[in-house]
Amino acid sequence: MLISVVLPCYNEEKVLAMTFHELSAELSGVTGDYEMIFVDDGSRDGTRDLLKEFAQKDGHVRYIAFSRNFGKESAMLAGLQYSSGDYTVIMDSDLQHPPQLIGQMLAYARQGYDQVIAQRDRTGDKKLGSFFARSYYRLVDRLTDVELTDGIGDFRMLSRKALNALLTMHEYNRFSKGLFSWIGFKEKIIHYKNRSRAAGESKWNFRSLVRYGVDGVLSFNNKPLRFCFFIGAFAILLSLVYLIFLFVGIIFKGIDMPGYFTTIFTICFFGGVQLISIGIIGEYVGRIYYEVKRRPHYLLDETNFSQDSRAK
Ligand code: UDP
Ligand code: MG
Repeated sequence: MLISVVLPCYNEEKVLAMTFHELSAELSGVTGDYEMIFVDDGSRDGTRDLLKEFAQKDGHVRYIAFSRNFGKESAMLAGLQYSSGDYTVIMDSDLQHPPQLIGQMLAYARQGYDQVIAQRDRTGDKKLGSFFARSYYRLVDRLTDVELTDGIGDFRMLSRKALNALLTMHEYNRFSKGLFSWIGFKEKIIHYKNRSRAAGESKWNFRSLVRYGVDGVLSFNNKPLRFCFFIGAFAILLSLVYLIFLFVGIIFKGIDMPGYFTTIFTICFFGGVQLISIGIIGEYVGRIYYEVKRRPHYLLDETNFSQDSRAK
């Protein structure tokens, strides 16, 4: 039995040695063989050299290095494609996902759970941040067809069955939280206490969070498009009522000219509605544009995997 652990790394030289040690300690304690797949997502610091050093010291270490930064989603995908484990764990390389949970995950996975998911609480999170995150999850949950839960991220163990299912989805815009939920299978949630990053700093800023948020809503449904349709229908209905109202006035009282305020209001309001609708359509068209190009999700620069070890 083989356990594969996939770790995306982007500029993590400060924490990587700690991660490697904690993870090795945990993995050598569980039954079965294991491999650690580190994916260097185009780091600009010493991450890659460190990975090569680990690989030299320890035969369990595999690494994949990208030609540039392709983002965490691509890094995870690469790791999953190269994973040959019967069970595959995905975790961050900054020790926010405690390796000590792997033993417990494995126990559940062997009982037949295809996705053993670690859910964190929000200890130590900034109040405002966690308020926004919670509201976001509630909103996305309502807007999309897949189920997202607060505190559930990428940290999980997948059975071969679940992993193969994930790999059948070739979309370019990957929103993993949605993909995990979309495939389904038997799930088990375990809980852990939130940890702050052991060293180094987070790659997220406000802009990337907003972009990620929009992705989450758009990549799993076309409800925003339907929303435009309903707003349009509602506006037509409203203007018909108004038209009749004016027309009746003209018949009984004759034409009276003033109407500057309502005219300007209508122009501005519907101008705005139309721009928003076009924007929403544009978001989808943009995504389609990227999908049809069928570019690879990442480019390899270097790896210690043999050439034919990638799935499909
Ligand atoms: N990461 C990556 N590519 C990126 C950004 C992040 O592979 O472009 C990795 C990063 O090295 C870490 C994980 O994704 O292992 C989570 O990133 P981070 O800790 O910055 O996110 P946070 O925990 O703050 O949500
Ligand atoms: Mg982190």
